[in-house]
Amino acid sequence: SEEREILTWDKFGEASRALAQMVADDGYEPDMVLSIARGGLLIGGAMGYALSVKNTYTMNVEFYTGVDERLEVPRILPPAPDFVDLHDAKILIVDDVADTGHTLKSVEEFCEGKVGEVRTAVIYEKSHSVVKCDYVWKRTDLWINFPWSDQPPVTKRDWSVADA
Ligand code: 5GP
Repeated sequence: SEEREILTWDKFGEASRALAQMVADDGYEPDMVLSIARGGLLIGGAMGYALSVKNTYTMNVEFYTGVDERLEVPRILPPAPDFVDLHDAKILIVDDVADTGHTLKSVEEFCEGKVGEVRTAVIYEKSHSVVKCDYVWKRTDLWINFPWSDQPPVTKRDWSVADA
């Protein structure tokens, strides 16, 4: 179907506060916010501020090549965190969306045994996700347009073309 879920920058602002509020209300006090790049970077930064967590980190996972086009398995790209001195730490993994959930699952599994506790927060969760996230702002089964990726990348402008 062509129908999309559209997240605007304004809604993103609301979503990030609401998601942080869910974590706080639940009494979870993460020592580190771990964003899955690139989709989780903006929500991770927003959550870091909203929850007053300075230790924000990122992991690069490659899975999608286009709208609904995936690699066979998610691939963690180096450098991966080594979690030195974090064996008792409470981690909050954040991402834009748990779709199949395989990306989040691979990061969760990567963290297991290396840290104290892991919980997950996403802006969106789809019903078929293999991971049921601890904190979800909104559920949808539509393809989502995020404000950071719904326009093509910028390119160098050609100033030789007159615009008269
Ligand atoms: P998963 O591994 O849960 O299937 O998907 C993880 C990543 O794929 C997300 O973090 C996101 O970057 C991308 N992705 C999955 N579903 C969507 C979607 O509906 N819209 C967009 N823009 N990206 C998506």
